[in-house]
Amino acid sequence: MTGIGERISYYKRQLPETARLVAVSKFHPVEMLSEAYDAGQRVFGESRVQELIAKREMLPDDIEWHFIGSLQTNKVKQIVPFVSMIHAIDSERLLLAVEKAASAIGREVRCLLQIHIAREETKHGFSFVECRGMLDRGIIKELKFVRICGLMGMATFTDDREEIAREFGNLQNFYMELKEGVFSGNNDFCELSMGMTEDYVEAVKYGSTMVRIGSGIFGERI
Ligand SMILES: *Cc1c(COP(=O)(O)O)cnc(C)c1O
Repeated sequence: MTGIGERISYYKRQLPETARLVAVSKFHPVEMLSEAYDAGQRVFGESRVQELIAKREMLPDDIEWHFIGSLQTNKVKQIVPFVSMIHAIDSERLLLAVEKAASAIGREVRCLLQIHIAREETKHGFSFVECRGMLDRGIIKELKFVRICGLMGMATFTDDREEIAREFGNLQNFYMELKEGVFSGNNDFCELSMGMTEDYVEAVKYGSTMVRIGSGIFGERI
């Protein structure tokens, strides 16, 4: 296998200018993140709070840390002081917990709402109906420190490329509906986080602005 730097360059060449690369480094040792950093990568995605905090202490300060995993409300406080973006807000309760922690320290926190688009029940996220309901009830007005910057979704793990395309297409339609609806005139709402190693090609076709690539860069997770 080629080196981490070469794999990062490869993905950057594949992506249109409108899609950023989030290097998903979860479960990989800090040496591999350093290698990616030395190759110019600055945006990293982690999915566990303790692991993220430990790695952050060992690496340079100019890294943008994205929290991409499911987040427990009791751990919110630990990442709110420094995290660049939280990708997987999957309940109103979690959203309000982030708002509370952010307001306590007076820091704005960028968040994405995770939408359930896959067939697997194990995947998290709001349904379209739940998400519309929460937004129509006026939640945005209650958020002084949380900035809702867009949506995130994970497609079904399947070889059926049409199914994956359909799911990303549905998410893109919903994103456009909100952008032209409740978020119209709100410039924060501009991110669509979708696509991983196995399905980023489809995700980019449907307007992804952030692809989250793990194994394609760092190899299999142990
Ligand atoms: C692990 C993970 C990824 C990266 O998956 P790969 O298949 O290794 O690219 C992307 N997004 C989320 C939410 C993840 O948990």
